[in-house]
Amino acid sequence: MREAFQELVHHLHARLREDRVRGGRLSYLVAAGDSGAGREAALPPETASRKTPRDRTAPVRAGEETLEAIRQALGDCQRCPLGAKRRRLVFGEGNPHAELVFIGEAPGADEDLQGRPFVGRAGQLLTKIIEAMGLKRDNVYICNILKCRPPGNRNPAPDEVAACEPFLIRQLEAIRPRIICALGSVAARALLKTEAPITVLRGRFQSYQGLRLMPTYHPAYLLRNPAAKKQVWEDVRIIMKAMDLKLPEHKNGLPGGGAPGHGAGGI
Ligand code: SF4
Repeated sequence: MREAFQELVHHLHARLREDRVRGGRLSYLVAAGDSGAGREAALPPETASRKTPRDRTAPVRAGEETLEAIRQALGDCQRCPLGAKRRRLVFGEGNPHAELVFIGEAPGADEDLQGRPFVGRAGQLLTKIIEAMGLKRDNVYICNILKCRPPGNRNPAPDEVAACEPFLIRQLEAIRPRIICALGSVAARALLKTEAPITVLRGRFQSYQGLRLMPTYHPAYLLRNPAAKKQVWEDVRIIMKAMDLKLPEHKNGLPGGGAPGHGAGGI
């Protein structure tokens, strides 16, 4: 009995320390009422996490790697051939303690020029999606699997993903988000190591490195296919629910109640 009590006190202390580091959110209280169990997808074998789930109750260790240290470790990276072709390396930006991280496949032309992720038209749409969630861009963290632009915006090659992904994993370990949103088929499939189509993957949580990952359509796809905004809004609402964010109160739960261009959270 005494041992169990001590274990409970230790657990609550660990959660409190973690919440302080992450901005004061009392997750140990939330966790008591919402474990998230039941909303997790039953994962097909090919999308199961390659690691055992990370213990989110573990206290942040002093000296744990920072995003700045990871950027320094990348340096003038030439670990894959894309390093020789880039103008600027796009590391990622946003809240270093974000609860939500958006991950795309690779920088495009605008990002390569500016050295920032998601700054072109697709990036502007991503910003609208974030704002439709009641958040701001600097509340979340945005990055890509690859930090350098593939020529002609072609899909990342497997050896390029293999060279760059370890830095993404280190970024996630530093940020410790609650949820990841993989933007687009290429990013989702590269992270989950699956050939399953995005139509099958999206709409339910998958697992990546012990974190909950929601695949959804890429904003660039939405620019070409605005009708898919409705599905993205469905995915976003699942994320919002899991993060205990306030859902908008509209007819049918959707702004505009299904009017043209709506039913998609106003995005
Ligand atoms: S894509 Fe990644 S691994 Fe390749 S050169 Fe750029 S930073 Fe290095």
